[in-house]
Amino acid sequence: MRSPADTDSSDRAWTCEAVGILRREAARSADTHLLHQRLPAFPGIDFYFKDEAAHPSGSLKHRLARSLFLYALCNGRLRQGQPVVDASSGSTAISEAWFARLLGLPFTAVMPACTAPRKIAAVRELGGQCDLVDDPASVYARAEEHASRGACHLDQFGLAERATDWRGNNNIAESILGQLEQEPHPEPAWVVCGAGTGGTSATIGRYLRYRGLRTRLCVAEPAGAAFAQGWQRRDRLAHATCPTIIEGIGRPRVEPGFLFEIVDEVVEVADAQSIAATWMLEELLGRRYGGSSGTNLAACLLLAGRMRERDERGSIVTLLCDHGERYSDTLFDRDWLAARGIDPRPQLAAMRATVAPLAA
Ligand SMILES: *Cc1c(COP(=O)(O)O)cnc(C)c1O
Repeated sequence: MRSPADTDSSDRAWTCEAVGILRREAARSADTHLLHQRLPAFPGIDFYFKDEAAHPSGSLKHRLARSLFLYALCNGRLRQGQPVVDASSGSTAISEAWFARLLGLPFTAVMPACTAPRKIAAVRELGGQCDLVDDPASVYARAEEHASRGACHLDQFGLAERATDWRGNNNIAESILGQLEQEPHPEPAWVVCGAGTGGTSATIGRYLRYRGLRTRLCVAEPAGAAFAQGWQRRDRLAHATCPTIIEGIGRPRVEPGFLFEIVDEVVEVADAQSIAATWMLEELLGRRYGGSSGTNLAACLLLAGRMRERDERGSIVTLLCDHGERYSDTLFDRDWLAARGIDPRPQLAAMRATVAPLAA
């Protein structure tokens, strides 16, 4: 029989090893690119795109998954061989499956059955299991069920806002501001991001204050979704008034990580507009990115239009959240869109004219 003290010390040895694996993974990783663009229609405004699709697991959730595993380990909630579970609309599940495999732990993602098929396949390819539920609102309860049977619940929605070190430690805000240092407008006028867990907006909003910058933070949100509904009245009980097909953002409820106080503006973007902007991104950058990146671009263009009206110069920074390949059967498939009553072409044509009026 092993005494509790023996068990403790072997648990601690494994925790130590697992934290070491995560640290080494971070040390091997390069920073993601901050791509620069000028658009003819907006003289004096520099646009920057933080390419979070470049992470090994393909999205900005790579950072979050690393932080959630570290947080669970350092809180003594995750032991050798323990199953791991989380509720996810897809990108987090892929990144968590990636890290679970790195640590040799079994992983289950609880996902809405309507998640993009390629994301489900990606989780399975990484050795993860998918527990698909019909009602997207029931993912949280289902993840808790797994936890009650002994799994460690990484709990992206509950913990995103606190698992990331907001004072720096190469968080996304510190990385962006460091990369801007030599640019003409190193203190951006705006940073634009989406809200899924709220982790990214929380980290950026806090860091801007911590560094004493005047930069304003804008959340780009699918029209009628819960962040927008709640933010206006600081109402944590708000719900989405209509669903969205943009994955990763546009939550049905106010998530625990939505910190309304540090967000200066919420721009609501209709799905067709987000999709047109997603297609536009491919024309601008030569690569495909996901729908939430399009939502971000649409909000950037609105803010840039306001800056132009006031004759302001400066920089606007936003995020490319994940790869477009994940959506080739959905947002990039005209038949799939048509079946949902969406034809982004008229908006795409209008957006081309907005971005480059001379070429139109
Ligand atoms: C999670 C996610 C977001 C939003 O980021 P949060 O930090 O969770 O608010 C945006 N786009 C995609 C594709 C995501 O997966």
